[in-house]
Amino acid sequence: MSFKLQILGSGAATPTLKRGVTAQYLNFNERKILIDCGEGTQLKLRKFNISFQRIQYIFISHLHGDHYLGLMGLLSSMHLLGREKPIHIYAPPELKEIFDTQFKLTYVTLKFEIIYHFLDFKEKKMVFEDNLIEVYAFPLKHRIPCYGFLFKEKLKERGMITENIKKFNIKIPEILRLKASKNVTRENREVLNYLEHTTPPSKPKSYAFCTDTKYIDNLHEIVKDVDILYHEATFVHELLSRAKATFHTTAFQAATLAKKANVRKLLLGHFSQRYSSTKDIEKEAKSVFNRTICVKDGDTFIL
Ligand SMILES: [Zn+2]
Repeated sequence: MSFKLQILGSGAATPTLKRGVTAQYLNFNERKILIDCGEGTQLKLRKFNISFQRIQYIFISHLHGDHYLGLMGLLSSMHLLGREKPIHIYAPPELKEIFDTQFKLTYVTLKFEIIYHFLDFKEKKMVFEDNLIEVYAFPLKHRIPCYGFLFKEKLKERGMITENIKKFNIKIPEILRLKASKNVTRENREVLNYLEHTTPPSKPKSYAFCTDTKYIDNLHEIVKDVDILYHEATFVHELLSRAKATFHTTAFQAATLAKKANVRKLLLGHFSQRYSSTKDIEKEAKSVFNRTICVKDGDTFIL
């Protein structure tokens, strides 16, 4: 079981030499996921040695340029480098229209299939599920439709206490039952209690990604107890009126959310280019929620 999150871009609005715009790479139990794809993302993938042909799923929060303008370039490079494997894109429906038009007008037929999954709903919804993980999308409050994402590991089976297998001569079908938290009754009426032969599963890992949005009062219900919450903190609280007018969040507000949600760690990003340092943002957030990190491009988080 593995979780590795790499920040590819941590700034807002326009890419600079210091900070790229929003993009993150997540390897969650070998599911290779790209979250947002601002301009320049493919160069960041190269810089941090991430094979973009291996990316299977792309989640786009919303269609402001700093969150998706790198995607056409990335898809184009995947095409030129011979990709044949389909790619899944989770995004607002307008993205397909933009890309279809662009491909049509430039006579490009991709060598691989794009499978679109439209984000177009008003409540939290499961958008992806397999045997190990599930992904939910939920609406945020921005100037245009925008979604946050919650990546969650499924509850694993209980672990078998191996020395008991020999001691009690436990057979494979019995092991499967015990690991699934079920007792086993044998023909001689002997009962194997799963609590005696197995250990509890480890807590499922979880990650929530929330950008761009104004402060949402009850968002803590959705991101409750996650291991890592990434949240935008475009401004410090002194610029609250600017944050409200542009549908963004202040560091103080993001930290308040993290505290209410009881998350393990808060990552802040999407900083306004007006800040040459994140010192004030970090200080403000930490006064509310101490386990806060202002991320930089290239930062990696492993669970
Ligand atoms: Zn935006």
